[in-house]
Amino acid sequence: MTRDTTLPDLHHLVGGDAHGVSATDWLDVFDPSTATPIARLASGTADDVDAAVRAARNAFPPWSALPNSQRARWLDRLADALEARIDAFARAESQDAGKPLALARDIEIPRAVANLRFFAAAATQFASESHHGEAGLNYTLRTPLGVVGCISPWNLPLYLFTWKIAPALAAGNCVVAKPSEVTPLTATMLGRLATEIGFPPGVFNIVHGLGGRVGQALVDHPQVRAISFTGSTAVGRSIVAACAPALKKTSLELGGKNATLVFADAPRDGLIDTLVRSAFQNSGQICLCGSRLLIERSIYAEIRGALVERARALRVGDPLDASTQQGPLVSQAHFDKVMRCIDVAREEGGTILCGGERASPAGRCADGWFIAPTVIEDLGPDCRSNTEEIFGPVVTLQPFDDEDHALHLANATDYGLSASVWTTNLARAHRVAAHLDAGIVWINTWMKRDLRTPFGGMKQSGLGREGGFEAMRFFTEAKNVCIEV
Ligand code: NAD
Repeated sequence: MTRDTTLPDLHHLVGGDAHGVSATDWLDVFDPSTATPIARLASGTADDVDAAVRAARNAFPPWSALPNSQRARWLDRLADALEARIDAFARAESQDAGKPLALARDIEIPRAVANLRFFAAAATQFASESHHGEAGLNYTLRTPLGVVGCISPWNLPLYLFTWKIAPALAAGNCVVAKPSEVTPLTATMLGRLATEIGFPPGVFNIVHGLGGRVGQALVDHPQVRAISFTGSTAVGRSIVAACAPALKKTSLELGGKNATLVFADAPRDGLIDTLVRSAFQNSGQICLCGSRLLIERSIYAEIRGALVERARALRVGDPLDASTQQGPLVSQAHFDKVMRCIDVAREEGGTILCGGERASPAGRCADGWFIAPTVIEDLGPDCRSNTEEIFGPVVTLQPFDDEDHALHLANATDYGLSASVWTTNLARAHRVAAHLDAGIVWINTWMKRDLRTPFGGMKQSGLGREGGFEAMRFFTEAKNVCIEV
């Protein structure tokens, strides 16, 4: 196929050199709000992964030998350089992923900066434990694993990319990262920034390309000691299976079908605002989005009415326009998938209260992959619409009669990532939190994160936890040393 060579090229980063391995094959990267290509992406091979792993292995002895505080300084310097360019990164993220500019500029890129800073600090605080008395003097050495693979998705591109590479590097590992081929811009920019500030070559490498090729080669590479993966449950399962023969460590952050439980005594202050955000932020393409809204029957009509009114009023359009609240879906393939899910909801007897169709903003975004915010009711808990992840601007409503019924509905999926509970009854809030199948439970709020807390899901939503020292533990081996005293 003839390629448009006027588009900017996005290269791998191997051994600190953007041209360390050159591409022979290219993929188009699209602006989803206009459905037009904006860049050409190097499409890597198993050989490219091998070259990156070799570069990382060479860089490992000096990097792992640095005092933690010096590795922390490198991460802080990268954070400083990123922070100084927040506007450029936010614009790139907005264009690549179709997210409203303000979301990228005010939340996601600052969070990428915070990730780098947080794990820089964690590097200096992650101390060895010691135990004395029971059986001599014991202490635990925490040693880095070596070369690790970090595979990230397209929905929060730089935010999740840095959430993985930062703890891996802080703990003394060298990284081969594979960002999503759908949204590779900001990871590439961060790689260039690392080179610009003189980050030690080979410590942090990027190989771009298709998951089934580059991602798989990284997972299969015998010298890669661990895989930290965020993405779909189906790919997560295949990664665990591929890592099993070599007993390679895996950390998996996977899909969700998260419930929001609204009790009749829910505080009304900020409630509808948060329900709307939780359902539709980033076009519903956040693993933590509340895609199933469970409402106590006595207030069902009140909440449904308010939600539908607000969903209809959301301004869907050009992500670069400051007034836009919802952008497009990330790709044609994902747009098609979400539209099929809406068709399934109709076939299952769902009533579409609003949305359910393509949205076509005027002007330059007329051909973008937009879907109107969609609210659906009249679906039972066991139907596909209430059990399978849709990952779009689609929320289903179900009424419940009491606490037990609410818990039954909330737990009626194979997923277990997050949940949010709205009530002013303190005892109930704690009781429900304890009984929910979810790795993260919010009470009267949504998507607030303290980076020190464990992050991850139960059931089909993941394996292991990230966040704070959990991530530092994953990226290190523990060695007990016992001394006779
Ligand atoms: P995906 O699983 O299709 O891809 C994720 C990454 O894995 C991409 O970089 C992709 O190229 C790569 N990949 C694909 N096949 C691979 C293979 N066989 N071997 C190795 N790597 C492979 O997911 P996606 O569509 O990019 O992201 C959306 C999914 O991610 C949703 O299910 C969402 O819930 C989930 N997600 C989870 C979290 C969380 O923290 N739990 C956060 C964000 C997104």
